[in-house]
Amino acid sequence: MLSWNDSVSAIPDLNAAQKRAVKKVEAKTIGDLLNILPRRYDDYSHTTPVGSAPIGRPVTLRVEVESIKKVPGFRRRVTIIRAKVKDDTGSLNVIWFNQPWLIDELKPGRDIFLSGTVNFRPKFGRQMGNPIWEPLEVMTVATGAVAPVYPLTGSVAQKTMRELMASVAEQVDEIPDPIPDSIRERAKLPSLTDAYRAIHRPTSLDHAEAGRRRIAFDEFLTYRLALGATRKEVNTAGAPRVSFDESFAKKFVSALPFTLMDDQKRAAWASFKDMEKRVPMRRLLQGDVGSGKTVVAAFLMAMVYRSGHSAVIMAPTEILAKQHAESVRRFVTGADHAPIMLLTSGDKRMWEEGSEKKLKLQEARDRLREGRIIAIGTHALLYRDMLPPDAALVVVDEQHRFGVAQREALSVARRPDGLVPHLLSMTATPIPRSLALTLYGDLDISIIRTKPTGRLEIKSSVLIGEHRERAYEAIRSEVRHGHRAFIICPLIDESDKLGVKSATEEAKRLASGPLKGLRIGLLHGRLSTADKDGVMNSFVEGLLDVLVSTTVVEVGVDVPEATVMAIEGAERFGLAQLHQLRGRVGRSVHQSYCYLMSDADGPSLDRLKVLEQTNDGFVIAEEDLKRRGEGNLLGTQQSGAIIFHAARSSDIELMMAAKESAEDLLASDPDLNIHPDLRQIVEHLRETSHGE
Ligand code: ADP
Ligand code: MG
Repeated sequence: MLSWNDSVSAIPDLNAAQKRAVKKVEAKTIGDLLNILPRRYDDYSHTTPVGSAPIGRPVTLRVEVESIKKVPGFRRRVTIIRAKVKDDTGSLNVIWFNQPWLIDELKPGRDIFLSGTVNFRPKFGRQMGNPIWEPLEVMTVATGAVAPVYPLTGSVAQKTMRELMASVAEQVDEIPDPIPDSIRERAKLPSLTDAYRAIHRPTSLDHAEAGRRRIAFDEFLTYRLALGATRKEVNTAGAPRVSFDESFAKKFVSALPFTLMDDQKRAAWASFKDMEKRVPMRRLLQGDVGSGKTVVAAFLMAMVYRSGHSAVIMAPTEILAKQHAESVRRFVTGADHAPIMLLTSGDKRMWEEGSEKKLKLQEARDRLREGRIIAIGTHALLYRDMLPPDAALVVVDEQHRFGVAQREALSVARRPDGLVPHLLSMTATPIPRSLALTLYGDLDISIIRTKPTGRLEIKSSVLIGEHRERAYEAIRSEVRHGHRAFIICPLIDESDKLGVKSATEEAKRLASGPLKGLRIGLLHGRLSTADKDGVMNSFVEGLLDVLVSTTVVEVGVDVPEATVMAIEGAERFGLAQLHQLRGRVGRSVHQSYCYLMSDADGPSLDRLKVLEQTNDGFVIAEEDLKRRGEGNLLGTQQSGAIIFHAARSSDIELMMAAKESAEDLLASDPDLNIHPDLRQIVEHLRETSHGE
């Protein structure tokens, strides 16, 4: 038998491929290995007879290879494999492109599963194109017919991983369970050992799901416990007092170019109250895109500076940090001549006593150390070591980058004098309250529900195939009226992480086709910071009409003249993300339009229709949550501490159960002294989230 903490070298009877796999996934212990969770499951328990396979819908077939051959491709580099497969009910043609090795793998007589869609082509009849195939042996490995699909590295084969994981899960001894039985039983969850077996050797999809829920529960529980510890630390540390100056507040408000909305005032006033206390503020400011959160932050920062301290705001991207610097400067200097610093990796500058100065990194660091300043920067730069020693307020913008959010929720930025600055988190993602409380602890929430007056609702349309022309037509017409357009391209595939390919090709196509004659700029992740800024600034200033871009423009960018947002391959995005993107337009009194373009059909399109019907971010977020696995707010793509592997944002009930259990545990055992295993996990979680 194997133990959880045993080295992977203890696994008996590995074949060469499995040994390579163990090395590739960089697992040191049995536990590391079992924690590699399947991305999804293929269900081979429901196969369709070949004779009755429908056209145009995904099916799984269980067949025998009858014949297979390589045929010359129409273009030189393309290899085509044609096979004929059969079962008792009929036979079917199958075609694969660019997989020459299949000739050796799929010998006539071999039994396999095929997953794909059957098409009808007049010349070839019924045919399946590029199906995924699995050897029939998955049955014996997965005991039932439900096969885990693992995230793979390099040359490791799915089959190798499956066999390896199933065998390790079977051989593993009782896994020490850090969670008291009483809690586990109340939540109706399996033991850890059963959970890992269910995950790696499921007998049905429900079985696998029960296993996943157990691991997800543990993630929520330990996260809650860690939050509890952080909260305790924050509350005992104390905060700098920021005194409220009413005449200054009046001056600030009257110097603004617009009237504050009630929700904005309420959010600011609640924060001023919080900051007068010795207990650090922990407040979440939620407001849909374009609702005007920045001015609230600027108001607080101005007040903090006024009362003799420093304030900082952190943004997730350079472009956004720059826009914040612009707005904050505009809002603050109407009432006070505070020194303001912009701090990004590519641009460090200072506005003080009416002049602007570029800074070197060391100069910026030195100036921050002097304190009594308002600083605007990216998360990466301002976080922790660049924090001014007299920082009384930290504003974190666009918390929907949850990797960052989790890390910040769990960590405490302390000043050299031991005090903890007040914290305002701003997010445009309308997070359901239950999720917000789980992610941030018992924070206070302010919501801006209204939009600045005079705004028109964005008109959104889903455009399929050639109906795209409507979007191009609108773009040409808007540009004629002096407005601008965004065109967003999705990532084509995994290897194209930065979306360089799709955006570049699309820009070319548009420039020589539908948008010929317009000034088109291109923005993607591989451009240097200077080039990115150059393109973005040209767009902001109106030197470009159209910006073809990947999602790097996703958050916060404010270009009031932009009135069209066209999104290519819209079905690839979550609803919440599409809503975010759409929020780049509709930032002025002009009518704005959003076009969701797609070549897909079926359920992914119905989903997009939600955006045609509503502009309410809360409704959209709820819709996203309802459709599982999508718009996952706990998403793991972002960098930073990843805490939730098994948990999903749709696990609301599980999340609430974990929250209650954590509260019970802490009530009877505040320092987890009688639950040392749990305490160790929690401490580890807090440590790993503190560092980068
Ligand atoms: P977000 O909440 O998405 O960060 P911003 O703070 O960028 O929104 O605000 C969007 C735009 O609305 C900005 O141009 C800002 O100056 C403007 N704005 C903010 N508050 C008001 C208001 N009360 N009246 C009119 N315009 C406003
Ligand atoms: Mg914003």
